[in-house]
Order: sequence, then C-alpha cells, then structure tokens
Amino acid sequence: MTIAAAGADLDPARAVASRIVHRYDLAGDLFDTLSGESCGVCRRPCCRDARVWLDFKDLLLIHLSGQSPPPAQLRCNRQERCRYLTSQGCTLPRGVRPWVCTWYICPAQRRMLLRDIPGGPVRLARWWQEIASLREAMEAAFLAVAIPTKASCRTAV
Ligand code: SF4
Repeated sequence: MTIAAAGADLDPARAVASRIVHRYDLAGDLFDTLSGESCGVCRRPCCRDARVWLDFKDLLLIHLSGQSPPPAQLRCNRQERCRYLTSQGCTLPRGVRPWVCTWYICPAQRRMLLRDIPGGPVRLARWWQEIASLREAMEAAFLAVAIPTKASCRTAV
C-alpha cells in the first residue's frame, strides 16, 4: 500500500530494485549449477533445517521490482520446515526467495566452486558485495520516501 501510494516518488528505489534483479539473473546460472550438482544428491539438504524467512529488504525487492510475492512466509514457526521445499527442490523463483537462500553456499558447493569453476569464487564475492550494497541503497531510497524526516514533517504542518 505504501509503495502504491508513493507512486513516482519511489522510482529511484524501483531503479535500484531492477539493478538487483539484473544481478540475480547474472548470478543465477552459477548458483543453479552449484545447487543442481549438489542438492539432489545431498542426504540432508540445508533447506530442511534452514530457519530463514523473507525479511524487510526481501519484501521490498519483490514489491519494488513488480514481482508477485509468495502466498505466505516460509514457515509459521521455528519448528516447521520451509513450505516451498519439495522433492524437486525449491519451488520459488530466485527473485522472490530470501536473499540468504541465494548467497548461502554449503561446504560441498564451496569445494565445487574452488575446484570446478574457474574464477567462480571471485565472481561470487563480487556479486555478493554488489547485491548487498544495492539492497542497502534500495532500503534507504524507500525509507527516504516512506518515512518523512522531522524537517519535512514541520514543513508539511
Ligand atoms: S525458499 Fe527455497 S531455497 Fe529458501 S529455504 Fe525454502 S526451499 Fe530452500
């Protein structure tokens, strides 16, 4: 509702969200390769035990980039496992998963990254840094519009 009400004022935040989605697209093949080679044969995939959820920046990214949010949070309590985990893996598109679901690399994947993918660790570190910075910038751009400063409140009154 806040995003809809703000209209064009949030265009700077939307532009940052688009840059994040673009970085996700660039990084997605690498992450898909790693998970495709390891998660299917793993006896205890990390998603079974992960205690993660969509945080504020994840939700901002989904809404500011015009994607449809998942129908619910990943789980209702700390005991439940993620509702989007199936025998075929995660059913959420990468762009609407929690950011931690993308950047977390298990030890087996890290070994694969070092051994089999030339330049992989460097690319991964660069993407991680870029996306983390852009997420901060997106949140700041949103809050600048959504939460007026004291000065602008006084002006408005
Ligand atoms: S959203 Fe997908 S990647 Fe994240 S914990 Fe759930 S199943 Fe795993």
